[in-house]
Formats: sequence, structure tokens, C-alpha cells
Amino acid sequence: MGFAAFMGGLFSTLKFIGRSLGHVAAPVVKAIVQGARDFVNGVVIGFNEGMRDEPKSAQERNERELQQVNEEIMALREIHKRQGGLNDQQKRRHAILKERRDVLNQEISAIDKFSTAEEIVQEGKNYHPIVISDANAHILQYHVGQSAYNKLCQCGRVMVLQWNRSVATAGLNDFFWGCSGYYIKVDGRSVCHRTQKLTTDDLNLFANLNRPEFEIDSASLTRETINPVRARRIRQALDSIKGAQQSERIGIATYRCPVHGESLRLRRKNQSSDQLLDEYFLGCPRWLPDNAGCNFLVKLKSAAQISSVLDSEQRQGVLSV
Ligand SMILES: [Zn+2]
Ligand SMILES: [Zn+2]
Repeated sequence: MGFAAFMGGLFSTLKFIGRSLGHVAAPVVKAIVQGARDFVNGVVIGFNEGMRDEPKSAQERNERELQQVNEEIMALREIHKRQGGLNDQQKRRHAILKERRDVLNQEISAIDKFSTAEEIVQEGKNYHPIVISDANAHILQYHVGQSAYNKLCQCGRVMVLQWNRSVATAGLNDFFWGCSGYYIKVDGRSVCHRTQKLTTDDLNLFANLNRPEFEIDSASLTRETINPVRARRIRQALDSIKGAQQSERIGIATYRCPVHGESLRLRRKNQSSDQLLDEYFLGCPRWLPDNAGCNFLVKLKSAAQISSVLDSEQRQGVLSV
């Protein structure tokens, strides 16, 4: 039995982004931590008999299988394009693969939720209610592009937190939700273009505030990050994460492609740039040249996002590098 079978109520009523941000009215934070604890205990008890793997190794196994499934789906797509169709056997195989991908995605999402709940239990005392304003908008920005739970578009697909990237320092009005259907193209056109404004409710958060980056304001964080000496150390740290991901063929688990489910890979732009705030991005491993693959990507255009990537891989943000 998989993790998805144990999913309880915690995530059916609350929105979560990544591992450390929840949308909830301030007075019930205690109840959330308790809810996370019950949830984690429930999963652990449920697994005591039939558990095959620890969540972490189960997640890696799922991800490896997902890679193979996606590769095979894309190979069939290639055949379809070349020959103008698939034969019956290929069609059956395609249907089986798509079904398997749905199951794996559900399982991966369930284990990610489990890790989120674990983090809330372990870090409970560092979680505090906070109201996002222009001055601390980087707390929201830190989570841009991370997997969001329970925030769905009218079309049923998950929505991804986005921000208007043409502005240097984002204010509250620059954030919005965008449907992940934007990244699914049929005949070159996105299947869904819907966006939603953030509501006041979306700005009432509870978050793990135990990060030096959250103790200063947005503008100071940007200034500290692009300081040339620090920028050099940040580049070294990012390049070493990138190298490790290439050799292990696995990405950053807090960021997943909403279409393929695989963890995103840290990449550096080809054209040389010394602009740290637009030098790296996270891309789907199913990317192919000439728009032949997946175009989902998260640009790392802010100090907060770079901090989040460092934090999820090395447990340190930009200010501790
Ligand atoms: Zn949609
Ligand atoms: Zn993708």
C-alpha cells in the first residue's frame, strides 16, 4: 500500500506551499501543528506493518520510475509525430504509462505532504503567523514556484504562485496564481491561461520564520545578496548543487514540474552573465530544444528564491553561505 492511501484531512482544508508556508488564520496555528503531529503519527502507525521503505527512499524510487515512464511517454510521442499515429500495441502501452504516471504523481505528492507535516512537527516552535506586506514580500517570494497543495484552478489543475518578473523588488500586487495548464501545450497553445489575484486570505500565513533572511526587509536582502564577495560564494554553492544533481540525475524535491511530477534541475544560463539575480533557473528534466519538450521553468530572479534553493539542498540560505 502506498502513502497516498493514508492522506488525512490536514491537507484537504489548508493550502500549503512547499515545506514551510501555510495559509491559515493566526489563532489556529497551534491546531495546525497538532494536526500535523496526528497526521505524521497516523501515517507511521499505518505503515508499521507493511512499510517497505523510509519515505525518503520510497520517494527516490518513485522518482526514478517516473523518469522512465516520462521518457517512454515522450518516445511514443516522438513516434506519433514521425509516423502520424500509433499502432494498437503502442496505444495500449501509452494508456498504461499515463495511468502509471498518475499513480506515481499521487504517491510523490503524498510523500511530499508527509515531509511537510514532519517539518511542521519538528520545527513547530519556529512557525509563526505573519501578515505579508510590501516590506516582507520576500517571504512570499521565497516560495514562488514550489509545489502548492490544495490550490486548484477552475479547470482542476494545480495553481502555481507566480510574480511579475519585470519588477526588481516585488511588492504585494506583483504576485498572482497561475494555472499549471499554461505549461501544457496542445498544438502549440496552452490548455489553460487562467490566473487569480491573491486574496487577503493568501497574505495571512504561518511560516517557519527561523531564517536570517526573513529577519531583514526585502531591499536589504537583495543588497546583501548581490554584494560581489557574497555573490561569488553563492555561485560556488549553486554550481556545486548543480554538479551533484547532474551526476545523481535527481533535482530539488521542493520544486516539481506540475505536468511531469519530476523534481526540477538547477541550471545556469548559457550566455555568460554576471547578474546573479537572473543567472540560474530551475527547469523540468523533460525539456528539449525547439519547444519539443517541457517548458516549465522557475527563474531565480530574486535573492529570496536563491536562498530557498540553497536552503533546501544545503540547509543554509544566502546569508549563511
Ligand atoms: Zn486551469
Ligand atoms: Zn515538465
